[in-house]
Amino acid sequence: MLRAMTLAKGPCKPSRTHFLLTWTWGAPLAPATGRARQCSQQPCTQSHRSNTCLLLCCWMQPSGHPRWTGQVSLPGGTRQSPINIRRRDSVYDPQLPPLRASYSAASCQHVWNTGYLCQVEFDEASEGSGISGGPLENHYRLKQFHFHWGAGDARGSEHAVDDLTFPAELHLVHWNPSRYPSYREAVLGEKGLAVIAVFLQLGAPLQALQQLADVLPEIKHKDAQVALGPFDPSCLLPACRDYWTYAGSLTTPPLSESVTWIVHKQPIEVAPSQLSAFRTLLFSAPGEEEEAMVNNYRPLQPLMDREVRSSFRAPTQSPRERPEQMWQGRRVLQASPSEPHGPRAK
Ligand SMILES: [Zn+2]
Repeated sequence: MLRAMTLAKGPCKPSRTHFLLTWTWGAPLAPATGRARQCSQQPCTQSHRSNTCLLLCCWMQPSGHPRWTGQVSLPGGTRQSPINIRRRDSVYDPQLPPLRASYSAASCQHVWNTGYLCQVEFDEASEGSGISGGPLENHYRLKQFHFHWGAGDARGSEHAVDDLTFPAELHLVHWNPSRYPSYREAVLGEKGLAVIAVFLQLGAPLQALQQLADVLPEIKHKDAQVALGPFDPSCLLPACRDYWTYAGSLTTPPLSESVTWIVHKQPIEVAPSQLSAFRTLLFSAPGEEEEAMVNNYRPLQPLMDREVRSSFRAPTQSPRERPEQMWQGRRVLQASPSEPHGPRAK
């Protein structure tokens, strides 16, 4: 499986490592080792310096995902995502205004199986559909939303909060038309994207999600797509609009560090049957060996010297606030998509 990789010279150091991989959503690579997982919580320079380390730490795990078999341009690594948000270390910023979201249901185009996740596309030319306020200097247009989920309920979210992970995570991806002429260019540019992240936990059915869950059987295989009809994604946002924000990257290739992340504190509830519907999708195309689409999340990345700001006071500043009571997240140390229910799991 190493045949797909071209590796440039460079130290095993996230801030300076440049390497290229040809990527597609293909068959999974060899499973990662326990050794490779160590680097997910710290820069590679602290533990391994050999070429083998470069392969393990910077390619297979923890930077990548077993499904990434193609060419990836990873320019650096000082602000990669996702991260483990530590509430006590986040900085309350009273200057952060509320985030304003206004979406046009009519701009919803279709839902498709990308071969890695389930994605709902919107007309990116629709000016009125997007977000502003919060940490954003400009209005950002909605381009698409998608989900990441696990094989089981203990893990599946990309971000974690105080080492807690959730069964799934929603990402609403927006781009900045004030700085870039198109989404394609915004993906690679400074302040090009703003992504809202919402954790999913099990509970009551989310009626708004059922419209999507109902069409998933029609996109079971890779590259399948189907019209979804009008859909307003604001119904997928939690009632509480408190959030964390930090500068990060895409969590899928090209992993560009162009993202202002806005991670909602409050999860939304979905029924177990709704989450199970996502697990019936396949990574594979028709005619290929069937592989369940599960654990399509990237491992946690080092925070390094970044600051996570919050729009609300941390628990130590507001003793009455006990968000643990509304969280059903599972405490998992470095969930890795390749173990033990990796993409090979059926
Ligand atoms: Zn995502």
